[in-house]
Amino acid sequence: MLTSSSSCPSPTAVDACLARPQPRNWAEISRARLVENYRAVRSAVGPDVEVLAVVKADAYGHGAAEVSRLLTAEGAKWLGVSNWEEGVTLRKAGIQARILVMADILPYSPALTQEYALTPTVHSLEDLAEIDRRAAAWGIPIAFHLKVDTGMGRLGVQAPAAEIGRALAGCRHAEMEGLMTHFASSADYSSPQTDHQIELFEQVLAQLRRDGISPRWIHMASSNPVAYGRRQAFGNMVRVGHALYGYVSPAKGDAPAQTLAVQPVLTWKASILSVKDLPRGARVGYGGTFQTSRPSRIAVLSAGYADGVPHRLSNRGKVLAGGRPAPVIGAVSMDLTTIDITETPWLKPGDTVTLLGRENGFEINAQQIARWAGTISYVVLCGISARVPRVYV
Ligand SMILES: *Cc1c(COP(=O)(O)O)cnc(C)c1O
Repeated sequence: MLTSSSSCPSPTAVDACLARPQPRNWAEISRARLVENYRAVRSAVGPDVEVLAVVKADAYGHGAAEVSRLLTAEGAKWLGVSNWEEGVTLRKAGIQARILVMADILPYSPALTQEYALTPTVHSLEDLAEIDRRAAAWGIPIAFHLKVDTGMGRLGVQAPAAEIGRALAGCRHAEMEGLMTHFASSADYSSPQTDHQIELFEQVLAQLRRDGISPRWIHMASSNPVAYGRRQAFGNMVRVGHALYGYVSPAKGDAPAQTLAVQPVLTWKASILSVKDLPRGARVGYGGTFQTSRPSRIAVLSAGYADGVPHRLSNRGKVLAGGRPAPVIGAVSMDLTTIDITETPWLKPGDTVTLLGRENGFEINAQQIARWAGTISYVVLCGISARVPRVYV
C-alpha cells in the first residue's frame, strides 16, 4: 500500500530508491581510446590540416558534451554538428570551440550566430543571397561555409563555378569562411566517383581564386579518405566522425592499405535479469520462433530493441557471455533479449554480458552487429537509445 510514509516521498528520495546496483544495460565510453583515436587522426593528416571533430547525433551515441570536452582539451578547434539544437546544447555545456552546423536551414535568429557563435553551412545560391540579406538586416557579420554538390546529389550548390563566383562577389555582409563538399563513395575504390568529385571541387576552387575569393578553410574528406590516405581530398581541414569513435568503413575495390589505426571507443553491456532451464523442444519468445534442440539454459537480458538492440538480431546475433559468444535465441523484444547460456551455465542474474565489445579475446563490434542486422555500423551506434546510460571510463 502506498501511504504518505511509504518509501519515496521526495524527489531526492525517489532518486535514492532508484539508485540501482547496476543499470539494466549501459554504454561504457573509453576516454583514453577516444583521445588516442583523435591523436591518430591528427597524425594521419599532419600538422597543416585541421581536424573538425564531428559530434552530430550526440557524437554517434557517445555523448556529444563529454566527447567535445575531451577533444577540445586535446586541442580540437572545430566541431561539427547537424543542426542548431545540437550546437546550442554544446554551448550550454560550456563548449567554446568553433561549431559548424552542417545540415540545417539558415540562421533564423541573430542569437544563433552571435550569442551561440554557431557557424552555418549554406547549401544553395538562394540561401547565399538570403544569408547576406539577414546579415545586413541584423547588422552583424555572419561567417559561413559554402557547400558545393560535386556529385553526392544531396545538399550543396550545383551551379557552375562562374555563377558561384558571381554570387559570392555579390555578398557584402556575410562572409564565406570555408568551401566544402561531401563524398558519396569515399571507401569505394572500384568507382571513379570520388576522383570526379575532387576534380569538380578543384575547378570551383580555382575559379573562385581567379575571382579573388580565397576561403580560409577548404574541406572535403570525412573518415574514409583520411583512413585510406587520399591526400588530394584533405584540403586544409577534414571532417572526421566515425574514425574518432573507432571505425573505418571497409574499402571496396583496389584500395590502398588503411593507414589509420583506431579502436572502438564504446562498449555496451547488459545485466542478466533471469536465468532458466528449458527442456528440449521448448519455444522461446514472441512467435515461438526458436525451439530448443536440447535441454538448454537461457538467460534473459535487460536490453531490447527500445535500447537499440536491432530486432534483426533475433535468432541471428550473438553476445559475449561468460567469456564466449552466446547466440541470441528467439525474437529480440522491446526491453528484453534471450540468449543461450548452456555452455556457460554458471552465469546468474545480476551478471554482466557484453552486447558490443570484447571479452576473453572475443570481439563483437558495431560492424559485426551491422552485418548480422543487415545495416551499417553508424546505424548500430546511433541506435543505442537515450535510455541507455553512458558511463565514461
Ligand atoms: C557526418 C558527416 C561527416 C563525418 O563522416 P564520418 O564518415 O563519420 O567521418 C563529415 N561531413 C559531413 C558533411 C557529415 O554529415
